[in-house]
Amino acid sequence: MRPSAVLLFLDGVGLGTAGAHNPLSQTNTMPFVTQLVGQPLLAEAQHQSRHCLLKPIDATLQVPGLPQSATGQTTIYTGRNAPQYLGRHQTAFANGSLRPLIEASGLLKQVLHQGGTATLANLYSPAYFEAIANRRLRYSVGTLLNLTAGLTFRMQYEYEQGAAIFWDITGEFAASRGIAHPPISAQAAGVRLANLGRQYSLTLFECYLPDFAGHAQNLEQAQQCLRRIDRLIQATVEHLSAEVTLVITSDHGNVEDLSTKRHTLNAVPLLVIGPQAPAFSAVADLTGITPKLLESLQLQPRSADCRLS
Ligand SMILES: [Zn+2]
Repeated sequence: MRPSAVLLFLDGVGLGTAGAHNPLSQTNTMPFVTQLVGQPLLAEAQHQSRHCLLKPIDATLQVPGLPQSATGQTTIYTGRNAPQYLGRHQTAFANGSLRPLIEASGLLKQVLHQGGTATLANLYSPAYFEAIANRRLRYSVGTLLNLTAGLTFRMQYEYEQGAAIFWDITGEFAASRGIAHPPISAQAAGVRLANLGRQYSLTLFECYLPDFAGHAQNLEQAQQCLRRIDRLIQATVEHLSAEVTLVITSDHGNVEDLSTKRHTLNAVPLLVIGPQAPAFSAVADLTGITPKLLESLQLQPRSADCRLS
């Protein structure tokens, strides 16, 4: 079977120093991942076995200042150095300035151009698109990535069919966004992610929880969200098909240092679980993820003119 991949994006998770400021220093915060890699997710954490790779990768991308979400995510999803392209790290939304990079080199679009299939697993709502239309919100990088690939968004129907996940994993926040349905467990969300991973060459799921907890400087909230992410990862791994590789990374540090409400300069984790794990060992920073994902899917470009610069 042709290799496929699930990309789990976690907003605001860096590898920091141990201490009371870092919820990741406690091994019970992410028990599954800690056991998997034999250590807590701290600075310099490294692990490599046949089916599992953990390494710190750079998120600063040789651009001064604290790394931010829009440029970090664009870099992860395009393989292009977005902060270098803009000359600065840019926060939150993918406004016009980053769109050309996403249009030209977006991961989902590239997978389609190479004859593969791709999907964004996140649940969207009519309220979200209304807020965009009313200019109360701007597109996130992930939204723009899906949009510029010409892919549909997963809505309530897909959610009810067990084929979408809200960005908070369990859907507890979804009610506040005008989406009415009962929350699911993190384990159930992991099963959903693994099922989608089986059906597409590439499946992307974005979780923003850790960045919120980091900005809130709330230890309990941080531990709760990291435990939820750990349960999601465990269930995904336990239900993953043999040909699927799970790739987990982040755009910048934040939740690993609750002594500041700002982002950090820390490296972020690259955790890869599955048959393609060793192939990611040379990735050094956020620019390396998209090229390595595309390579690992072993797709055949349809024609030369589909090649994106
Ligand atoms: Zn942030």
